[in-house]
Amino acid sequence: MPARPIHVIVIGAGTGGMCLAHGLRRAGISVAVYERYRNRSDGLLGYRVGVNPTGCRALRECLPPDLFTTFLATTARAPGYFNVLTGQLHRTASFALRPDADPTSIDQSVSRMTLRQVLLTGMDDVVHFGKTFTHYEQHDDRVTAYFSDGTSATGDLLVAADGTHSAVRRQYLPHAKVRDAGSINIANKIPLTEQTRALLTEEMHRGISLIFGAGGVMGVLHVMEFKWDQCGSVKPGVGVTDARLLAQWPGLLFDNTRDCINLIVWSAADRFPPDVMQLRGERLAEVARDLTRNWHPHLRELLRRADVNSVIPIKVATSVPVEPWPSSNVTLLGDAIHTMTPGRGVGANTALRDAALLHRQLVAAAAGAKPLLGGVADYESEMIRYGFARVADSLRTNGTNGDDPIYKPVIGRLAMLAARGYFSVTSRLPPLRRRFVDELYNYRGAET
Ligand SMILES: Cc1cc2nc3c(=O)[nH]c(=O)nc-3n(C[C@H](O)[C@H](O)[C@H](O)COP(=O)(O)OP(=O)(O)OC[C@H]3O[C@@H](n4cnc5c(N)ncnc54)[C@H](O)[C@@H]3O)c2cc1C
Repeated sequence: MPARPIHVIVIGAGTGGMCLAHGLRRAGISVAVYERYRNRSDGLLGYRVGVNPTGCRALRECLPPDLFTTFLATTARAPGYFNVLTGQLHRTASFALRPDADPTSIDQSVSRMTLRQVLLTGMDDVVHFGKTFTHYEQHDDRVTAYFSDGTSATGDLLVAADGTHSAVRRQYLPHAKVRDAGSINIANKIPLTEQTRALLTEEMHRGISLIFGAGGVMGVLHVMEFKWDQCGSVKPGVGVTDARLLAQWPGLLFDNTRDCINLIVWSAADRFPPDVMQLRGERLAEVARDLTRNWHPHLRELLRRADVNSVIPIKVATSVPVEPWPSSNVTLLGDAIHTMTPGRGVGANTALRDAALLHRQLVAAAAGAKPLLGGVADYESEMIRYGFARVADSLRTNGTNGDDPIYKPVIGRLAMLAARGYFSVTSRLPPLRRRFVDELYNYRGAET
């Protein structure tokens, strides 16, 4: 089969769309990305995303090598422990994580805003901002995307990377539904200062802490410490290579991520005021404090010190698995096809995995090793299998499903005790403890 030049149109400059765009451009395949935000600082949140070994490998495969090294330089200190605590800060379990010998075999703590800046680096000629996709038309073997400003773009393949509420999916697979998972998160960002640091134990400071609050209120706390200070200057003691990369990287100019504590609180949606999704600022922060009335004074003090401008409500959604469909010159990746709850922390990682896989298939098609639609079909059959498996695992985990037994009136208490009991026993018996840590790494894609 002769090699064939192809032009790929990507809708959405998020995690998956930009990873794919980098991979295609590196391989010499023509690509253009259309993003509804007006510029690279628009609509960004600085919350943590844990980029696991699967996600890291995808980034290493698709980004230019110097940008991948810059990505590693922009990560926060990796967590050393996975802690399980009660709302009263009693330690149920603490698992030491593996030391970070190889940066692609551990979870990297990344600010979502910083990751976006990394992914937008050097892509000015590829990304078109202020382009809200409205619909597409397929004609012969080409496809045209239309935007709300009256413009359009034509290519050989249209990739939906436009997230949970994907307009491409609504047109292409109208039967593929995303449903409310029945739980709500309130995300709080607390500046890391001497005072807020003093409210954390050493294990909390150095780890990720999952909190089982009495009465069915859950939490997760991460400390994010970067290699730059409050003014955006590289901190003393940072290695010369990272210091040089950060000093040269223009992305930091667009990014106001600074050292902070992320404390996300969640529960079944019926525990929240009906208008919670409309609340912002101090009124929303008050809802989080109200839910956690019986938590330890240190956690309550952290919530009191949250930056009220960064407090956000998140209605957790999950996709309903769909049967495979006949492939065409429209395809989907990431949340656009398999939105999942944050239960296993793999939504972004699965979007990155999709991007690397689709990129490989398109490289083969462009080289003439297979027809374009054959590459899309091979991508979809694999992506549908692992993507919806991750959706199911995520829904079962950590009370991100509003129907979880921990939220039920009578059995809820027992379900909470059973969940904590599992962590407690597992952490105390060395063989179970080792197996727990091994399974955690295997699930997150570490190579053994
Ligand atoms: C609280 C929380 C914590 C999370 N933590 C983790 C974690 O630790 N690890 C992890 O792996 N995942 C995590 N996730 C999930 C992760 O954020 C998503 O799965 C991931 O960002 C999906 O990437 P994507 O590329 O599919 O979509 P996105 O990154 O959402 O990008 C979609 C892009 O499309 C654009 N767009 C949308 N509509 C249009 C349109 N009509 N026209 C043009 N552009 C459009 C959007 O503006 C956006 O830029 C978390 C999610 C939440 C809510």
